[in-house]
Amino acid sequence: MQNTREALADSAAENIITSTHLAVNAVNAFTEQVFHTRGGRIGSGMGSVIEALWGFYLNVRLNSEKEIPYELGWIYGHEYNDFACIFRNEDWNPDTKEGELFRIEVKSMVASADESKAHFDRLQHEFAENELLAVFLWDWKLMNDQPKTVYPAVLDYFVGHALPIAQLRDVLHVERGGTFVKKDHCPDGCPIQPCKHVGEPLNTSGVRERRSGPQSTKGPGVSYAANFGGMLRMLGSRGRQGKEYLKHEYAFDPTKARFIDFMARNFSRVARAIK
Ligand SMILES: [Zn+2]
Repeated sequence: MQNTREALADSAAENIITSTHLAVNAVNAFTEQVFHTRGGRIGSGMGSVIEALWGFYLNVRLNSEKEIPYELGWIYGHEYNDFACIFRNEDWNPDTKEGELFRIEVKSMVASADESKAHFDRLQHEFAENELLAVFLWDWKLMNDQPKTVYPAVLDYFVGHALPIAQLRDVLHVERGGTFVKKDHCPDGCPIQPCKHVGEPLNTSGVRERRSGPQSTKGPGVSYAANFGGMLRMLGSRGRQGKEYLKHEYAFDPTKARFIDFMARNFSRVARAIK
């Protein structure tokens, strides 16, 4: 039974990954038809709209495949725009994950912004093995027939398993001098181990990267550093070792390679790092 479920989760993930270009084409056709404006705001929440539209258009596609037993559900009460791949004809309980095959964390980035506000900062142990990550790069684009009017368009995207990307992020974090709180070594000196801080990232100066990190590692003047998992920043490497690691993973791990390719296509900084 377990094997059947795993095989189904694998084929569902593959289907979502390979069908995304059709969903993205549909999103762009819709935004080009409807979301017209002069100007075009950044930080407007449009990224969240695009993330949701992807889910809905993908669902139209999945629902047209009558023979598959799954669809997407939009998880309520979450900090992020998260979808779950769920069984079509079964009860779904997001609190217990009953009726779910796996989850999808969705992020968006604006191409013309220096660093995306999107943070991929969930810890490795917070991910299930088969969870997916979807990242959409978008920007305001001039309309062909109305040169002063823009619409938001998805320019590029990545959809793939989240865990390999988290591993990539974490190795490079350490390579740049960061650390993770280890069991029995919590800076808060928590009496019961493992404490809830184990695995929390600290930066080179020992400042916690997330609000949930140890209380005693608050930074001077900031509650937490919030650099961890910055989509572009997380691929940065200082020394030769980091670069070697990036190149090695690029050559041998197809999911990491697709993510690095996606970032390298759009950010010259990343392209230089794998040369
Ligand atoms: Zn602790």
